[in-house]
Amino acid sequence: MFGREHERAGERLDLVALMLLRALEAGEGCPICQLAAETCENTLWSLLWENVNDPDVRARIREALGFCPRHTLRLCQVADAEGLGVTGPAIIFADVLAAIGDALHIGRCDLRAAGPCPICAHERTSERGALATLLCYLDHPRLATPMRRRGLCLPHYRAARGLSGRHDLRGPLAALHARHLDRWAASLASLAAGEIAPAGAGWLRGEAPWPPARRSERRRKLIPVSHLRTALV
Ligand SMILES: [Zn+2]
Ligand SMILES: [Zn+2]
Repeated sequence: MFGREHERAGERLDLVALMLLRALEAGEGCPICQLAAETCENTLWSLLWENVNDPDVRARIREALGFCPRHTLRLCQVADAEGLGVTGPAIIFADVLAAIGDALHIGRCDLRAAGPCPICAHERTSERGALATLLCYLDHPRLATPMRRRGLCLPHYRAARGLSGRHDLRGPLAALHARHLDRWAASLASLAAGEIAPAGAGWLRGEAPWPPARRSERRRKLIPVSHLRTALV
């Protein structure tokens, strides 16, 4: 979804820019983290509802020897939130355990995965595309105002700086980030005790709240069946 190159044409926002604008207006944290969390939720939703028995999807999960710890947890959280029970996660875990057993049986005893966690890989692709769009529209009238109120977490600020070809935006990006750091530091005194840990994890480590701030019942109708297949195959 975010993997293409973004060319700013006139002052109209493209689809990814509109998603970014909605993410900027939806919550309080880093908008790229929010989009990544939504990507994760949507992908796992598609997996559980549509693709648990898809051979290609299952092969990709087996190659990775399952999901990373965070996405293993998210898989179970989405299944629970959707009222699906543990059947889907259990089928996937059993498949991964069988793949590990097969690897041992043929002497691949180092048990190294042949690929990354599929959800992590999809999130990284989405993040790169969203950051490219953010840089492209950084001075757009509709994005500039919410961007002054919201900031990037530290990992996504670094990633934005590292995007090739946009060295001209490093100065404005750094100035924007400096203002957010001042605002966050000033807000620490007013946070309740229970808010400090998630705020620090969000600003410094890119930990988005879970579930994502926006949850829409319409999402089921909007997600194409091919979503996970496109992401994982
Ligand atoms: Zn972030
Ligand atoms: Zn992962």
